Amino acid sequence: MTFDYDGYAGAYLRVDLSTGQIQKHSLPSEWVENYLGGNGIGIKILWDEVPETANPLGPDNKLIVATGPLCGSPMPNSGRMEFIGKSPLTGIYGDANAGGQFGPELKFSGYDVIIFEGQASEPVYLYINNDQVELRSARDIWGLGTYAAETRLQTIHCDPALKTALIGPAGENLVRFAGIQVTYRRSAARCGLGAVMGSKKLKGVAVRGTKGIHFKKPKVLESFSLQMHKNIRRNEFFPGIQKYGTSGLVALMQPIGRFPTQNFRQGHFEEYEAISGETLREAHLVRDIACFNCPLGCDKMYSVEEGEFAGCQTSSVEYETLNSLGARICNRNLEALLKANEMCDDLGLDSISAGNAISFAMELAELGIWKESELNGLDLSWGNYHTAIQLLHDMSYRQGFLGDLLADGAARAARWLGRNSERYAMHVKGQDIPAQDGRAQQSMGLAHVTSSRGADHLKAFPTIDETGYPSEAVRRYGEQYLPDLVNPLATRYKAMLVKDGEDFGAIVDSSGNCKSGGTFVMAEIYWQEQADAIAAATSMDIDAQKLRQIGERIYNLQRCYNALHGITSSDDVLPWRFTKVPSPSGNARGSVCHLEIMLPEYYAIRGWNPDDGLPTLKTMQRLGLEAEYQRMEHAIACGATKAARMFLGWAAPYTEKVEEIT
Ligand code: SF4
Repeated sequence: MTFDYDGYAGAYLRVDLSTGQIQKHSLPSEWVENYLGGNGIGIKILWDEVPETANPLGPDNKLIVATGPLCGSPMPNSGRMEFIGKSPLTGIYGDANAGGQFGPELKFSGYDVIIFEGQASEPVYLYINNDQVELRSARDIWGLGTYAAETRLQTIHCDPALKTALIGPAGENLVRFAGIQVTYRRSAARCGLGAVMGSKKLKGVAVRGTKGIHFKKPKVLESFSLQMHKNIRRNEFFPGIQKYGTSGLVALMQPIGRFPTQNFRQGHFEEYEAISGETLREAHLVRDIACFNCPLGCDKMYSVEEGEFAGCQTSSVEYETLNSLGARICNRNLEALLKANEMCDDLGLDSISAGNAISFAMELAELGIWKESELNGLDLSWGNYHTAIQLLHDMSYRQGFLGDLLADGAARAARWLGRNSERYAMHVKGQDIPAQDGRAQQSMGLAHVTSSRGADHLKAFPTIDETGYPSEAVRRYGEQYLPDLVNPLATRYKAMLVKDGEDFGAIVDSSGNCKSGGTFVMAEIYWQEQADAIAAATSMDIDAQKLRQIGERIYNLQRCYNALHGITSSDDVLPWRFTKVPSPSGNARGSVCHLEIMLPEYYAIRGWNPDDGLPTLKTMQRLGLEAEYQRMEHAIACGATKAARMFLGWAAPYTEKVEEIT
């Protein structure tokens, strides 16, 4: 089979780790036409090849590494790529996105996608140098952190430009929220796909590519990309994002009561200035860093020069980490936070889930739920950053009772522990809730429960109503939806906002550009611009309308994949703290998240059944997914979905009212 499209490398690799066999195939045109790339192709492969009976940490699960048509192109922020697999944390659909340099390099070597299957008996890594593709022993780098492992591989191959995707000790030790670290120090953190690599004894992928990519209309693409670069640089948000990256959000979220503190008990952190983006830049900045072809350079390198954590050097200190290992555990020590960030990247941990596990443990300690013998002498008082740092280490190596228990994530730990601990595990579908409080931004609460990978802000990424962005709201949807659409506390039109964001986000994640760049936050690239870029890059007959349908198809198939595992509307819930306890602070004071208003509207807009929240036959037919609908229905009818659900492993979010501690 030959591949007829420009803009893609045109080939994928299938690597059987059990046998060591590597096959090279042309990229099927059906994948490209119907699913575009990235997480679109990822869900297609997962649906076809990874059954609901597959253990996420067993040989039947697959790890899919996928780029898209704009990855490696002249378009701004075009260095993003996806890892897809069944998540060991949630037991359902999982994906994680990363920027940096790895995705473009993979395409330059001649491959759009790699599918890893089976399990190796000894540690290995995949080495790709254009047409040379080999599995090599990773015995010498197994056990190393991601920084040292990358340096070692570059030395072994005498190639400082070698790009890697690696796991650290957390992935090797099957920590269920282990991430994958890619060159240059970016994380594909969520969903525990690093543990999938660990279970396959796959330390990583090292790639060098020099082939370049052939675009359909290179001159058109170049001038269009140039215009997009200019638009992004002129955007009102450009200076702030360039200067602080996402760390600038700390000072923005604090006054609106959307900066989760003390395991989401509070929406603001009194000492937020100690860990704000402004303080971070002033005290610790070394230099700005950019992913491939990004005009923003929102990433930063930081160092600690003196004190207890002197010598620490770290990057990608995001808003999420400043919250999860800062305010969420009441830690105001910025240098300790930088150390924790460095450890998460080197050990290969998702800093959101790691922080959530620690804040869960700290709240249980305050409530006297732990037994003394379980704590191994650790002081779990709020704000104790020494304990937090120790726990990052213990979780990564599964050391001690607490380290081993928390390495499975707060939601699974709660199920194992009992003792009413599930009340304090802040998650949706097993995925830890990021630093986006649905009480202070209604659309974000809805986005957490409708996200296909469990609690998540980046699937729908509703930024228009975060702090109010009326000009973009008008451009995208028209004036008739104002002012409610941009009011974070209003519920009206939020179903529309979330549905549109999910579909568009599926396209961005499948194309290979960045949500923090020009697509969502600065919103220069929307459906039409994305379609124009793909039409210039590839030979696809594509327009904005067709792109919308692909986005919807991807999102619906992800929902159906989760349905095979027993997920229904009954799982579209937030923990009680978001729906039963009014927000204590900021503009959101007195507000709870009103899912009961937004969810029925969302199901209706999606064309999903109002009772079980699953796509109807009519919706699936419209998207060309009738056979997939039949498979889902059959699995439900024969009880396979109920059986699969029993293996998800997490305690359902607690939704009844509990007296709050003050
Ligand atoms: S905006 Fe930031 S995360 Fe996105 S591509 Fe640019 S540097 Fe990377």
